[in-house]
Amino acid sequence: MATSRSTPASRARSTRPSPPRAISTRSVYPGTLTDVTGGDGAGSTSSPTACASASGRAGAQTSSSSTTPPGRPLVAVRGTAARPVSGTTGRSAGSGRSRVGPIWSPPPSGASRVVFSDLVHATTPSRTDEAETSANDHIRRTNLQRVLTLLHYRGPRRRPEIALATGLTRSTVGLLVAELAQRGLVTEVVAPERGRGRPSPMIVANGDGVCAIAVNTESSVLTVALVGLGGVVHQVLVEAVDGAEDPALTCDRITRLVAELVTCAGPERRILGIGVAVPGQVQVGDGVVRHAPHLDWREVPLAAMLTAATGLTTTVGNDAAVILGATSAFGDGLANDLVYLVGRPSGVGGAIISRGRLVHGASGYAGEWGHVPVAQPGRPCVCGGVGCLETEVALDRLLAVAELDGDDPEQLAAALIRRDQPELETEARRQLGHLEVALRTVVNALNPGTILLGGFLAALLDSRTEHERSALVARAVGAAAETVTIRGTYGDAEQVLLGAAELAFVTLLRAPDLVGPA
Ligand SMILES: [Zn+2]
Repeated sequence: MATSRSTPASRARSTRPSPPRAISTRSVYPGTLTDVTGGDGAGSTSSPTACASASGRAGAQTSSSSTTPPGRPLVAVRGTAARPVSGTTGRSAGSGRSRVGPIWSPPPSGASRVVFSDLVHATTPSRTDEAETSANDHIRRTNLQRVLTLLHYRGPRRRPEIALATGLTRSTVGLLVAELAQRGLVTEVVAPERGRGRPSPMIVANGDGVCAIAVNTESSVLTVALVGLGGVVHQVLVEAVDGAEDPALTCDRITRLVAELVTCAGPERRILGIGVAVPGQVQVGDGVVRHAPHLDWREVPLAAMLTAATGLTTTVGNDAAVILGATSAFGDGLANDLVYLVGRPSGVGGAIISRGRLVHGASGYAGEWGHVPVAQPGRPCVCGGVGCLETEVALDRLLAVAELDGDDPEQLAAALIRRDQPELETEARRQLGHLEVALRTVVNALNPGTILLGGFLAALLDSRTEHERSALVARAVGAAAETVTIRGTYGDAEQVLLGAAELAFVTLLRAPDLVGPA
């Protein structure tokens, strides 16, 4: 169950919103200016409070500031003052942290990455006539992809570093950077260099000028964020939702929040589209939510609804796959044979990587670990089953026992690790017992090299001793348990936004040459 971050004021504002309104923004692709009428335009709710707080932060992030860590992003919680997102740091384009996971390069030994185009069946914009694309154009596009993808996922680089990383000559890199700059996709920042000689400019993905809107739909909280190229989170809006609601209402709500972000972003920012993470089964290709039990949605054409309402191309993906993709792309790479389980407010999701590739299953819905049966008899589950993993291993039950409100996941993690609250410790042991049943099934069925636990499952894991952690997979059959590594990963609140934005960025990364001049 989602943990409400609402306030009485925000609850009061969670009544039926206005109909979808027209949003006018500038498309990154020439000839496809988005100015679509999706309603009567009434009820514009541009929030001065949210806009002022957000634009104060975003406005400070000029292109040249990309080499300066922006610090924690502001989140505008409806009806309250802006505050930082707990556990969310945003990404500084100038952080210089090593990034693994570009689409184009072989992964380092033992590491793999989720390719976002696998999640969305991304295509280049329809105006492209591939038959007329010459071989030279194809090579140029590929090289532009390589350079932009490197800067997007791994952060700023000097030209010689780009040449080294891509294997391209310095002169070719110079031409490619010039073209990317002309299209407004990268900027140059002169950074002081140690030693003598001229300072060498740093090439930075233009996270301030090229953005996507990320949406995360939980059962009681809706989050909408403006995310810049390079993984810079500019602004986050959070709104309470009173449980499962009609998808049309959620679409209205998202449309209104997107309009606020577009207004705050201003005309100088180009917005590529919207990416939405949904806790449920999403049909890859057309963004139809087949079933999202915690939202009580079935067969909802969410991508088409939001595209029509906002005029921004919308792509929808499963939240766990989206988080894993961002963890892979912006993180340290992933094991080639990995099972991922993430405990979120809306339940337990998951995904599978086998031999370096995301496993989709026959229809694209593999990885629903939250609905593995672990208790008989057990509690009824929203999926219609009984005794599913997520009915027994649940964040809201831990929060209730710990008497926490869920606003700060680090508080729960700290309480679990202290192990000084007897009731919480009892509940943690009970939940870990059920998690062990699920992990036994995981190991027996898939023989993964790594089990990665995210969200509150990571906190549960990290609260245990080494011996207790090993016991979670020790009862699997035979030799499979001998080689599996189990570890936790944090940051899903940030990763879900970065990953959702990637759903919109993936088309750009495939064809930077189709972007019009800045
Ligand atoms: Zn279930």
